[in-house]
Amino acid sequence: MATRKIRAGILGATGTVGQRFLQLLENHPQFEVTALAASDRSQGKTYSQACVWRLPGGMPAFAKDLPVEAPEPPLDCDFVFSSLPSDMARDCEENFARAGYPVVSNSAAWRMEPDVPLLIPEINPGHLALIENQRRNHGFGRGYLVTNPNCSTIILALALAPVETEFGIESVVATTMQALSGAGYPGVASLDIADNVLPYIAQEEEKMEREVRKILGKVGAGAKIADAPMRISAQCHRVDVTDGHLVATRVKLARAAKIEDLRRAMESFSGVPQQLKLHTAPAQPVIVRSELDRPQPRLDRDAGGGMSVTVGRIFPDSVMDYRFVVLGHNTIRGAAGAAVLNAELLVAQGLLAASAPANAAVAEGERRR
Ligand code: NAP
Repeated sequence: MATRKIRAGILGATGTVGQRFLQLLENHPQFEVTALAASDRSQGKTYSQACVWRLPGGMPAFAKDLPVEAPEPPLDCDFVFSSLPSDMARDCEENFARAGYPVVSNSAAWRMEPDVPLLIPEINPGHLALIENQRRNHGFGRGYLVTNPNCSTIILALALAPVETEFGIESVVATTMQALSGAGYPGVASLDIADNVLPYIAQEEEKMEREVRKILGKVGAGAKIADAPMRISAQCHRVDVTDGHLVATRVKLARAAKIEDLRRAMESFSGVPQQLKLHTAPAQPVIVRSELDRPQPRLDRDAGGGMSVTVGRIFPDSVMDYRFVVLGHNTIRGAAGAAVLNAELLVAQGLLAASAPANAAVAEGERRR
């Protein structure tokens, strides 16, 4: 008998990340989207009435007639993806977890809570051990919260992880050039960004500095994470590019490494998603290019279906040990694709499944047919 797909709700479905969710989940082998939620501006409309589709290709047909509802439980789904603005995500996501829904979130609201996994499946799948404590601490029952990092953080962390594992990292200096889609829609006014670079993105530098250390941290006694001890300094800039965040990075290593060892460590990096061949996992999480003028957002952001990051310009550095540039797609690997991969890992680990009552309802429907 064919296994029923797991039913997903999307909170913030009309936004920049929400639209990516719908695009990535069309024809997904394990998930089907059955519920959509957004602000009161959109509620009560169908998705096609509420949403101006802004991605290449049309709005997925399955979504057009779905009603847009309030982001409150109950919704007709087994779990929710969340791409709500952070200020309202905290209460909203907690309400879903408390009502028994697994919440796979993009928002910053819960990322740094000690009992909430800040997950990149290639790097720290062991952090899912936090969920048991989280359920106990918050009285969530069947529900729980899993988050993905900030978009620039994910891209940087994927390049740092193999270096940290093989050589150890003492310190990192990271300078970002971040795409416009990272600010959501409508984002930055065109007269502010055309012919310009904005050297300020609210709370972005703090997020990068905190989140990387948690992601690369180790789970210790009592399922508590000890942050990676490295020092990180980040400076973030908004640039006039539609998609693709670029991070110019310098690292000081704990143990000496030859440049070819650094390159090999990045190129050969893979993890649980590749071993398990998860649907959204790229074959190669970190692609290394040797051309002097790569990576570039327009040329490299879609590598691995937008799920690989591309590293280039690896050179010895005269202040730190090495420097390189890493680029990734901010709304795919940095947001919706990251959350979908997280959900696929949750399924593989037995933490996410079609809920029993819904199974029963489907079985009843099939019996009647
Ligand atoms: P966005 O384009 O502004 O979309 C926001 C979404 O949230 C829309 O669906 C909007 O619905 C909904 N919303 C806004 N206010 C709401 C309210 N009061 N109640 C219910 N729904 C509300 O933003 P985005 O870029 O998709 O970002 C969404 C989240 O993902 C943010 O937390 C952001 O920090 C995070 N994130 C974004 C990126 C990225 O690259 N863009 C990357 C990583 C993480 P309406 O259409 O009805 O207003």
